[in-house]
Amino acid sequence: MNDTTTQTASAQSAQAATDAAGEPILKVRNIETYYGPIMAIRGVSLEVPRGQVVTVLGANGAGKTTVLKTVSGVMDPQKGQVIYEGEEITRQDPNRIVARGIGHVPEGREVFPFLTVLENLQMGAYLRRDRAGIQDDMDRVFDYFPRLKEREAQHAGQLSGGEQQMLAIGRALMTRPKLLLLDEPSLGLAPLLVTEIFNIIRRINQEQGVSILLVEQNANVALNAGDFGYVLEVGRIVMEDTCANLLQKDDIKEFYLGQKEEGVRGKRRWKKKKLWR
Ligand code: ATP
Repeated sequence: MNDTTTQTASAQSAQAATDAAGEPILKVRNIETYYGPIMAIRGVSLEVPRGQVVTVLGANGAGKTTVLKTVSGVMDPQKGQVIYEGEEITRQDPNRIVARGIGHVPEGREVFPFLTVLENLQMGAYLRRDRAGIQDDMDRVFDYFPRLKEREAQHAGQLSGGEQQMLAIGRALMTRPKLLLLDEPSLGLAPLLVTEIFNIIRRINQEQGVSILLVEQNANVALNAGDFGYVLEVGRIVMEDTCANLLQKDDIKEFYLGQKEEGVRGKRRWKKKKLWR
């Protein structure tokens, strides 16, 4: 064995040892992120264990999108650290973060409307040079989302909301991520489509071992798809537990599961929120 082979082998065994030791793939430590003078995230810490689905629940404006943008490098935090696979990536350029294996599916899909479905997927692979791998991943995306295959020559702007969500997830998969950040994949979709998309998110996690950080307002689907969950309120984590336990908690039942159907928000929620602090 030459030196390079020995080094590569030892790097791989070091990586394997880290993975085996259960080091979370992502650690967010006490981040504070601002929009100008507005502090949107007020000291958030969370972890994504390797191979798990972690969800962050929160109402409108709680700061969910800002957490994901801070992880993917779209926004820089004023304080705190983002640690991915044991290395600090805080404030790195988003393209470097993508190349490291973090794929971000933004809120509202944001596909390229005047490019075809196929071209949108190819854009996801623009940092890659491994043609065979790219083709494999394209086949896998079409396997998850057969409707994208049927519409591969259509402009993305002509797709339905659900199909655009599928395309946005597919485009992120073309980066071959180890960690996928999903921003409200259920937003604006009919219940059947939400179920379909969440089944595929679970398959991506289980079949490909992709770790997932999912932010959602739809607590029901998120808690049923996730392993561990955090509740974010006005830029702070107010509760964390396994999703199974969160599903049993009265606060979650009242304000994130049942309350929507009753159409009651506002006062009652505010009163209860204070109890969490
Ligand atoms: P939603 O579910 O509505 O997307 P969210 O939980 O993702 O909400 P964020 O979008 O992260 O919340 O917003 C967190 C806070 O930052 C909110 O108070 C919001 O008003 C504020 N904010 C978000 N974007 C901007 C911006 N571009 N300029 C100023 N304030 C912003």
